[in-house]
Amino acid sequence: MTITTRFAPSPTGYLHVGGARTALFSWLYARKHGGKFILRIEDTDLERSTQESVDAILQGMTWLELNYDEGPFYQTHRFDRYKEVIQQLLAQGDAYYCYCSKEELEQLRTEQMANKEKPRYNGKCRVCAEPITGREPVVRFKNPVDGVVTIPDLVKGDIVVANKELDDLIIARADGTPTYNLTVVVDDMDMGVSHVIRGDDHINNTPRQMNILKALGAALPQYAHLPMILGADGARLSKRHGAVSVMQFRDEGYLPEALLNYLVRLGWSHGDQEIFSLDEMINYFDLNDVNGSASTFNMEKLLWLNHQYIMNSEPAHVARHLSWHMGQLGIDPSEGPALVDVVKAQRERCKTLVEMASVSRYFYKEFDAYDEKSVKKNFTTGSDEVLAQIYHAFAALEIWEGEQLHQIVIDLAERLALNMGKIAQPLRVAVCGSAVSPAIDVTLSLLGREKTLSRIKRAIDYIQR
Ligand code: GLU
Repeated sequence: MTITTRFAPSPTGYLHVGGARTALFSWLYARKHGGKFILRIEDTDLERSTQESVDAILQGMTWLELNYDEGPFYQTHRFDRYKEVIQQLLAQGDAYYCYCSKEELEQLRTEQMANKEKPRYNGKCRVCAEPITGREPVVRFKNPVDGVVTIPDLVKGDIVVANKELDDLIIARADGTPTYNLTVVVDDMDMGVSHVIRGDDHINNTPRQMNILKALGAALPQYAHLPMILGADGARLSKRHGAVSVMQFRDEGYLPEALLNYLVRLGWSHGDQEIFSLDEMINYFDLNDVNGSASTFNMEKLLWLNHQYIMNSEPAHVARHLSWHMGQLGIDPSEGPALVDVVKAQRERCKTLVEMASVSRYFYKEFDAYDEKSVKKNFTTGSDEVLAQIYHAFAALEIWEGEQLHQIVIDLAERLALNMGKIAQPLRVAVCGSAVSPAIDVTLSLLGREKTLSRIKRAIDYIQR
């Protein structure tokens, strides 16, 4: 049997990190077993589904590089097939038309509530459906009345539900459109899904779906219901806890691998290892090791991981992502040093790529103003003279290289009997606009001769103005 998993989001918003974790676990499980991973867009709720949201899901999957082997399949393209299955269930006596009106159902509900009973359909039309002219019926599935359904859940263990707890659910609305539980069942069956990995908010649907699958004579998939992700306050993770959309993490400067690494550890562990390459994740991942209880999203830890990835990934890879952030700041990376060298210079100090882009601006663009504090501290009486001397020494340099630049600063410090800082700091402010930058030789070699010299000049004018 080919292990086949699927990620089946409803396109009614952005791709939430909880959804991304479901996608990741499904993807890992398929990859681990050399199986197939399918993307299915569950867009039958025409009122809530939007193209924008489909695009956001696809964009999120692409950014995370969770590549799918089949799909995206769209449920709205499969209405004929759902109709066929509904007809099949009707024909074999496993479904029936129901003509009960909204008012009747409402009244039934009120009565049941008054009697402290669980509100559920009483099966009236199951026994005798009487067509009512002018009223389009819904179709209900004939759920077994006796016995139990046992979900052999790979994460939570066996979950047993009595059939009498499940009423005859609607599988086609009065307008003929199929409902969620029917479409999922038909698709999982047709697409040969062997493992349904999804959020545990779907546990209530599972026994109903299993009953429909049984009625269709289909093989039952294995189920793994993943616990929810909570915010620090114990409530379900939502916007008010900070970023929750996958693309927002990109916008805030996270690397996709860092987010994947963070997500894989949310509810899954392998000893006390924290950092996993994709290959390691694929090798070690198993549904049996997924924790059955909810996990809490910890932004601090994600930030720490992101920094680890920024520091330890191939600089060229980090540079590719940094390039996008530079573009967001209106910076053209061709107007300055190779991004890969910027990454090497800045990676220790930057926990996000947004930070890295912002502190690397001056390599590419003139800064508008000096940082006031840095000016006060470092542009003092005589610093114009120091800068003038540096200017001449730099201008005479034949090769613009860190080592020589560094030597000039050392020599000058010696000649003027000043400590290094008295030279390097005004120089930093002159070329970067503030006193914070990588080592001065690195900064200057990245900046290049032209920008360095013109900025030193600008600083001298500024001090003397
Ligand atoms: N479309 C459902 C959702 O977005 C998921 C259905 C499933 O995984 O079975 O929650």
